[in-house]
Amino acid sequence: MRPELGAHYPSASQRTRVITEDWAANHLYCPACECNELAAERPGRKVVDFHCDSCSERYQLKARREPLRGQVQDAAYEPLAQAIRDGTAPSFFLMHYRLKDWHVQNLVLVPRFFLSLSAVVPRNPLGPRHPRKGHVLCNLALSQLPLDARIPVVLDGKAMPWEVVRSEWERFAFLQEKTHKVRGWTSDVLACVRRLSKSIFTAGEFYADFEVELRNLHPSNLHVKDKIRQQLQVLRRQGVLEFVRPGVYRQIRWCPACGHDSVPEVDTGASTRVRRLSCPVCGTVLW
Ligand SMILES: [Zn+2]
Ligand SMILES: [Zn+2]
Repeated sequence: MRPELGAHYPSASQRTRVITEDWAANHLYCPACECNELAAERPGRKVVDFHCDSCSERYQLKARREPLRGQVQDAAYEPLAQAIRDGTAPSFFLMHYRLKDWHVQNLVLVPRFFLSLSAVVPRNPLGPRHPRKGHVLCNLALSQLPLDARIPVVLDGKAMPWEVVRSEWERFAFLQEKTHKVRGWTSDVLACVRRLSKSIFTAGEFYADFEVELRNLHPSNLHVKDKIRQQLQVLRRQGVLEFVRPGVYRQIRWCPACGHDSVPEVDTGASTRVRRLSCPVCGTVLW
């Protein structure tokens, strides 16, 4: 990045905005199409927006000094929640930079079609002494999203190949045809599948581990088991799961770092639930 661009700005947040926006305008490309640049939109605003001139996809950049884990603070809750309901929410580029030399350490892309209300957590209203008292901000709950929704663009200071980033985007682009409620279910069930940490599982094991959690995320749904079964079918049709035999699923994993297409199943014997699975080509840890 070019830190000298921030020299004339007194506040740290302004400096960060100017410097990261400049980097993004020079280095970001559109993951949704072949376009190799993104245009900054409404410069000077607090939120940095970018859009692609050829496919009209919209992106928001959020940069922070701290590593990206758990939750990322976002702006006001209600406008984002409404945008998710309307299907107009942008995708997010979440940047972790190193302050001492303004180096982009990690950049994660969260495609808009993975955003559901389960992934946006309202915070407590701002206190009485705050100038915007009563205002409700929100966090993006990264931990609530499936691994597949967090596409590495820069990983530990190293840029991922753009063709890998684009193919990761493409794998779940089918979600954009669904309503936010259906998308939310698919994404939540997929997040649970990825957390199973094993490749072969039965429907019964899945219910035992996640039925209560999914019921809590979707309290208005009275047929949670049916919904789970239906979403497992959706994931099977999309090639994320396959049947070993009826009621027994195998999850298909691929490598987001090198694009290796189908990581073979590891032998998951007893007590291997926490065993790491790595890509056989590049060694990236997949879960
Ligand atoms: Zn595009
Ligand atoms: Zn790999």
